[in-house]
Amino acid sequence: MKSHLLVIEDEAKLAQFIKLELEYEGYEVTIARDGIAGLAIARELHPDLILLDWMLPGISGPEICRRLRTTGDKVPIILLTAKDEVGDRVAGLDAGADDYLIKPFSLEELLARIRANLRRTQEENTDILQFKDLCLNRRTREVYRGHRFIELTAKEFDLLEYLLAHPRQVLTRDRILERVWGYDFMGDSNIIEVYIRYLRLKLEAGGEQRLLQTVRGVGYVLREELRSP
Ligand code: CA
Repeated sequence: MKSHLLVIEDEAKLAQFIKLELEYEGYEVTIARDGIAGLAIARELHPDLILLDWMLPGISGPEICRRLRTTGDKVPIILLTAKDEVGDRVAGLDAGADDYLIKPFSLEELLARIRANLRRTQEENTDILQFKDLCLNRRTREVYRGHRFIELTAKEFDLLEYLLAHPRQVLTRDRILERVWGYDFMGDSNIIEVYIRYLRLKLEAGGEQRLLQTVRGVGYVLREELRSP
């Protein structure tokens, strides 16, 4: 079955180029040329993935993201942006985008990101989440590191499940708070640090390598420790 991609992009030439290339790769492609049409089509056609320009007439890319996420839509969204500053990147991730590409990007890079994000949603629909020797079963709510069983509280489990569903993606504090503690959470945002600490203690109790990494000033990411040069 063909994956259906929605491209929301107001630059006609770029949109047409992307459409032709993606169709050549075997995807079904719909184009929207402004934010309002894009949001309407996203809600009506439920595409498998959205390529979303940042600056759009009508509604901006990040705002479209935010509106889709508010209604619980989990479609993978790749933001296309001319901006390359860290602040914008964080704003895009906070708005609920899964990934972003900085213009101009190569076709190969675009195709690789599309494949990775489509694969991830397919994986999200399964019961078992795995990264390295860390394994979580959503149905039985059991967690193992290798053969070592790890007992977690309900909140620790939810936090780990969220991180495991987005391996190697930097998740901002705000996003983690929203997804794990809920939009209406009014408590201290330091709660994330506290729970990350609990999780690390339990996940590394057998001397295993650290998989929950801090990204200073931004948030957290599930990945191997980066070796210093
Ligand atoms: Ca634009």
